[in-house]
Amino acid sequence: MKIYDNVPLANLTTMRLGGPARYVLEVEKPTDLPDAYGFANAYHYPTFILGGGANSIGHDEGFNGVIILNRLRGFNDENGKLTIMAGEDWDPIVEYACSKGYTGIEALSKIPGLTGAAPVQNIGAYGQDISQTFLEAEVYDIATGEFKIMSKDDFNFSYRKSILNTNERGRYFVVSVTLQLEQGQMSRPFYNSVEKYISEHNITDFSPAGIRQIVSAIRADKLPDPREKASSGSFFKNVYLTNEEAEEAESKGYPVHRGKDGNKINSGWLIEKCGFSDKLLYGMRVNPKAALVLINESAGSYTNLAKARSEIIGTVYDKFGYWLEQEPMEIA
Ligand SMILES: Cc1cc2nc3c(=O)[nH]c(=O)nc-3n(C[C@H](O)[C@H](O)[C@H](O)COP(=O)(O)OP(=O)(O)OC[C@H]3O[C@@H](n4cnc5c(N)ncnc54)[C@H](O)[C@@H]3O)c2cc1C
Repeated sequence: MKIYDNVPLANLTTMRLGGPARYVLEVEKPTDLPDAYGFANAYHYPTFILGGGANSIGHDEGFNGVIILNRLRGFNDENGKLTIMAGEDWDPIVEYACSKGYTGIEALSKIPGLTGAAPVQNIGAYGQDISQTFLEAEVYDIATGEFKIMSKDDFNFSYRKSILNTNERGRYFVVSVTLQLEQGQMSRPFYNSVEKYISEHNITDFSPAGIRQIVSAIRADKLPDPREKASSGSFFKNVYLTNEEAEEAESKGYPVHRGKDGNKINSGWLIEKCGFSDKLLYGMRVNPKAALVLINESAGSYTNLAKARSEIIGTVYDKFGYWLEQEPMEIA
């Protein structure tokens, strides 16, 4: 286990904001975990788990506690049953699966971050989410100090949610994730934007590798590359509606997507309709191609991000009556 002190959170997160973390403990093998949490407990420090920092926001005052930095590496494939250590980069896993012809995660191509965070918010994109192929995970139970296997049902997955970011937040460290993938391909109709791309480019290859190429191209056009522009991807979740609310929204002419996972309005549409698209708010750029993404162009502080967030949430509420919910987690 490696130990660092006073590491700026800005260096550990893709939004590139946040003051120093008092300690960062880099765990490289599961047996480092009891030691890392033992250290934090001994000095009564709060802890926060970080992988790639693509969905976590640092505060200006930093974190007077211990960041447990997940660097657990390793990977095993038994005919499509993939067991992936939590510190593996997610996208190379998708690339590997597609190269083997396995279907189930091809639409999750190019999502930044590490595998251990994937079940936390049930990563999803273009009609897939990780719950669809998730079998089980090995976790370290921070409350009891025990390693155990938890099945898919234990995680209570839904849109951008699991027990890991709701009622059991901070309780479990995901050590490895096991997915069950099959040979085959996704069935049509694909997600709207994927179908649109297919017809515009006359594509006929719907194999996992083919869908990966399509999704990668759509994402490259629409979303900022975190290596070039500081962001956390979607800063706001889409707005989910009951059937009654969806009918009311449709009667007002709002675009409601009625999918297998429920009725939703794209929060990017709501933000765009409030006139925020491409606007620079306190140094945060509202991404012109997907307005639910905020880019830290020159904000320089969490305080400025918070001002931009308040302005957007308040304006959307005043105009439409919907509360936007933040997607990334706060390091606090
Ligand atoms: C440009 C861009 C595009 C994105 N597109 C998408 C998208 O299409 N779909 C999508 O769902 N997300 C998307 N995201 C969000 C992000 O990529 C995912 O949430 C990803 O899973 C974050 O991984 P990470 O390792 O960086 O997580 P981190 O930010 O390090 O952690 C995120 C949360 O998970 C917890 N956590 C991390 N590792 C563990 C672990 N081992 N055990 C327990 N808890 C843990 C952390 O405490 C934190 O609460 C995007 C982000 C960016 C920057």
